[in-house]
Amino acid sequence: MISYEPVIGLEVHAELSTRSKMFCACPIVDTTQAGPNTAVCEVCTGMPGTLPVINSRAVEYAVRVALALNCSLPSVTRACL
Ligand SMILES: [Zn+2]
Repeated sequence: MISYEPVIGLEVHAELSTRSKMFCACPIVDTTQAGPNTAVCEVCTGMPGTLPVINSRAVEYAVRVALALNCSLPSVTRACL
């Protein structure tokens, strides 16, 4: 008989209070007030050849949340391309 070990993951989506988006310098706007596509650029529209740059403030906030929730964090991360 084969025994299995259940592994349960949790993916959490949250909006952090940053001034710009996660991978570009576009400002965060109130979507109930701003017109459609008024705060977008080549990066956040996923245009080929663009180079996303991670928002360091968002990373800082995410790490703070993780530590506050007693989560474990890897000492090194890298992008999966
Ligand atoms: Zn953008």
